[in-house]
Amino acid sequence: MFETAIAGSLPKPEWLAETQKLWPKWVPQGDALQRAKADATLIWIKAQEDAGLDVIGDGEQARQHFVHGFLEAVEGIDFDNKVTMGIRDNRYEAQVPQVISALRLKGRVHAFEAQFARAHTKRKLKFTLPGPMTIVDTVADRFYGDRIKMAMAFAELLNEEALALQADGVDIIQFDEPAFNVYMKDAADWGVQALERAAQGLTCKTAVHICYGYGIKANVDWKNALGHEWRQYEAVFPALANSSIDQVSLECFNSHVPMELMKLLEGKEVMVGVIDVASEAIETAEEVADTIGRALQFVARERLIPCTNCGLAPMSRDIAMAKLKALGDGAALARQRYGS
Ligand code: ZN
Repeated sequence: MFETAIAGSLPKPEWLAETQKLWPKWVPQGDALQRAKADATLIWIKAQEDAGLDVIGDGEQARQHFVHGFLEAVEGIDFDNKVTMGIRDNRYEAQVPQVISALRLKGRVHAFEAQFARAHTKRKLKFTLPGPMTIVDTVADRFYGDRIKMAMAFAELLNEEALALQADGVDIIQFDEPAFNVYMKDAADWGVQALERAAQGLTCKTAVHICYGYGIKANVDWKNALGHEWRQYEAVFPALANSSIDQVSLECFNSHVPMELMKLLEGKEVMVGVIDVASEAIETAEEVADTIGRALQFVARERLIPCTNCGLAPMSRDIAMAKLKALGDGAALARQRYGS
């Protein structure tokens, strides 16, 4: 009960990459970089296990960014000539690569880190991939001229890699779709369909992570402008409830998301955000257990997965470590409180 998991990313150590940045530059080069990625992955596997978490991730230590890490292995994308583009409905600007021809995978994308993580934990392993709609929102299109067509092209590639990750022994494959909370109508109209194409044929658990973004200033400012009640999830949850995806995440702690929206996810496992990624304050075990208790009004305890609101990548390593422990301790307390 209350199997704990993180959304995905964790901070990179300073000997691997620049710290507290969303698109950090790697510090070592060549073989040394590969070794450093593996070492960092090992540290975070151990930290998650020590914190008592049940579902372990690689902390995305081997990719520069959660979207571009996948795109680097895709043919048809020009990474040498990035352009500045407003993303997430112009909430912030990013340097994005351009799609210039038909898309194809150059080969495996995440074999190294998935197989490495699998070899070093006996617990359940979750692996994250960007969702098709969020990818489309994080590249400049110079070829397809149609967002849905391009999303479906990316979904096919994601599916190819997801099936290979499943064969590597990954237990849960999660697609990250923060764009679902930005383009709500599109998400319900075709985003979920593209997501299901990406998950087609998977027999392992599948998940979708939807959030209000990392705790960076542009996101915090955006959230402050969303009013006292955040109902973005309301548009896409019914479509997800009818989909083949097994697990759906939502932000809870310190957010203005009405908890009753979880009722729209009837039958799904719900990753409930009990850890705030936009605050450096460390949650107490009591606070985490309280959030779980409130969520229990709307989701059955066997379907409740205590989770972080989003990735912890831009935070400091010490704070991220402490937040992992708060998640583990809070879930343990909740098992005592609500176990019988
Ligand atoms: Zn997120």
